Amino acid sequence: MPVPPSTALPRNAWVEVNLGQLRRNFAIVRAFTPPAVQILSVVKAEAYGHGSVRVARIALAAGASVLAVITPGEAAVLRAAGLSAPIFLLTNPAPPDFPWCCELNLTCCVGQLETARRLDEFARRSGWQPTVHLKINTGMNRFGLRWSAVPEWLPAVRSLTALRVAGVYSHFAMSDELDKSFAREQRRRFQTVLDAMTAAGFAPGTRHLCNSGGLLDLPEAHYDLVRIGILPLGVYPSKVCRRLPGLAPVMTVKARITAIQEIEPGETVGYGMRYTAASRRRIAILPLGYADGFPRVRNEGHVLVAGRRAPLVGGVAMDAMAVDVTDIPAARLDDEAVIQGRQGAEEITVEEIATLAKSVAYDVLAGWRGRLPRVEVNDEPATEGTTP
Ligand SMILES: *Cc1c(COP(=O)(O)O)cnc(C)c1O
Repeated sequence: MPVPPSTALPRNAWVEVNLGQLRRNFAIVRAFTPPAVQILSVVKAEAYGHGSVRVARIALAAGASVLAVITPGEAAVLRAAGLSAPIFLLTNPAPPDFPWCCELNLTCCVGQLETARRLDEFARRSGWQPTVHLKINTGMNRFGLRWSAVPEWLPAVRSLTALRVAGVYSHFAMSDELDKSFAREQRRRFQTVLDAMTAAGFAPGTRHLCNSGGLLDLPEAHYDLVRIGILPLGVYPSKVCRRLPGLAPVMTVKARITAIQEIEPGETVGYGMRYTAASRRRIAILPLGYADGFPRVRNEGHVLVAGRRAPLVGGVAMDAMAVDVTDIPAARLDDEAVIQGRQGAEEITVEEIATLAKSVAYDVLAGWRGRLPRVEVNDEPATEGTTP
């Protein structure tokens, strides 16, 4: 028989993407965003592991007007799926990217004068007029034309007439923490750049500064467009930013119990013999490990089995983890366990896994590997009454 793609073959561990919740989240985010402010949906890194094409389609249907990725390859996936919306390449492009920016009709984000010159030269040679947004460095100090050096770069940019400058933007170093003082300073710097451009008779076009944290907490920085990635996925950029009622996570990570062991006091579990049973224990084995993106912890963390929290025992291996289900007698072979997400009244949050990984929610979401199949589901709201 014909062999289907590897991701269509059986796997007892998978990632569920709840399209209904994604639609609800986008509707909530669109309703929260002032109507005059455009939404750019950031779908880099497979939309933080959720699948860039499915997230982009729902974003556009919910009122987003622009998409953004980091690499030409990511943009090619969207174009191949038939998406014709504007796509921003949110990085300073290198010359090998230029022909692909042309071929895929991408908006180039330029944050170095040298890049602007190279792109202008390519544009003249190829006859293509690139649409460009100028990236301003207002204090993050990674990419961008320096905010304090407008008189140095503006005349130079102006002379590059093969470029169609359609926008100006910057990026917050810290928009989602309680202390907004540097974010406010970045906004002030950004505004001085816009003012200097306008005073010099150079229209900045579409102005944008906010990511999810800025959208939530810095309304004075919304300008013409907001670039949002994590928020419509139902995950907040931090613990302290504003909450939107009804927003809920889109992703659930699951695995089925593939083996159960009854072990005696003094016996160990797994590589390195990192866990020793103090009494008779019932151990369930889940076929998911650090090669799927789960942090390589030992004797730390929980999963949900039969709606209850089961502690991890021993070390997480490449393809397996062990959990103690002694207190969950209902647990059986083939039962669904939830690694990330809700089961009944319990929830393992992305943030809980991020704490285990000594990292952030972004890293956990984007870290689930491609070897875990993505399964689309269309659930009703998990908690009644919280969602419109
Ligand atoms: C990734 C990214 C975003 C989206 O950030 P979220 O916090 O996920 O909303 C916005 N702008 C730029 C430049 C980015 O690289």
